[in-house]
Amino acid sequence: MKLIIGKTIAQQINTATDKTVATLTRAGVAPSLAIVVPTESEATQWYVRSLKRSADKRGILCTVKEIFGATVDQITDTLKLLSTDQSVHGIICQTPLPDRVSLSEIGSSIAPEKDVDGANPLSMGRLFSGLQAFAPATARAVVETLVHEKVPLSGANIVMIGRSLTVGKPAASLLTEKNATVTICHSRTRNLPEICRKADILVAAVGKPNFVDADYVGANAVIIDVGTNPTSDGGLVGDVNRGAVEQLVSAITPVPGGVGMVTTAVLLSQVASAAMKLSDVAVD
Ligand code: NAP
Repeated sequence: MKLIIGKTIAQQINTATDKTVATLTRAGVAPSLAIVVPTESEATQWYVRSLKRSADKRGILCTVKEIFGATVDQITDTLKLLSTDQSVHGIICQTPLPDRVSLSEIGSSIAPEKDVDGANPLSMGRLFSGLQAFAPATARAVVETLVHEKVPLSGANIVMIGRSLTVGKPAASLLTEKNATVTICHSRTRNLPEICRKADILVAAVGKPNFVDADYVGANAVIIDVGTNPTSDGGLVGDVNRGAVEQLVSAITPVPGGVGMVTTAVLLSQVASAAMKLSDVAVD
């Protein structure tokens, strides 16, 4: 069984990002990311701090706008203002959002050319049409992980547990573009373990700790664990019970240290490419 190390994949993506940032710097452009945080949450604060640290390391300016308790109008106004601010190249609106507010509702206020985490329905529409668009970083990270590991995708039978707009649906779309046959499962799916056991590649994006056990896994499957579930001792656990499945599978991503690290690298690479396009800087 191979443990797929996110750090190695992230480093490869970061090397390319560093080159892009160097090109931008030579052209006098300071790539910059704005993170809008509309609700207070410990997990979000941890994630935002870690994203900011990674951005700092890459020479990407990262501004965090905490607008706790903001109304929908205040959130969309903030996003619209950032969309017209020429010094900002990438915008993220961090989840969780206030109750009954959907990401697609407020995502429309992010200019598509700055929509580095694919929240605007226009970005999603382009993605589903096979056109150039920023994908949600986690969805792209799932594909980058499989491509880096040289897991054959064309004709592969992939089962995706989860149909969210940030992970399940866009990852399924990107994998279909790679000629995989993708089955999207969710909470109403019947016979879930049976469907999962047939997968060459199983992607778990459920948000339930240790949800996937040996019953869900076919022999030699590749498992991508997207889940990041906080534990009572301040740690993180995935959606897959690694101990229960590792004797069966051919490869698996750990949590932490798997898809999460790749997601951060993808996000920053998308900020760098947004800055290139918006500033009209030519590739070296
Ligand atoms: P989400 O929006 O809550 O979606 C969860 C999906 O799982 C839904 O489609 C839901 O089905 C499905 N589901 C829930 N219970 C199920 C069950 N018993 N059987 C089958 N399907 C079930 O979550 P998300 O935003 O996609 O995130 C999923 C996980 O990934 C979370 O742990 C999150 O923290 C993690 N995540 C990690 C990263 C990263 O960078 N590593 C980034 C984003 C998210 P319904 O649609 O029917 O409700």
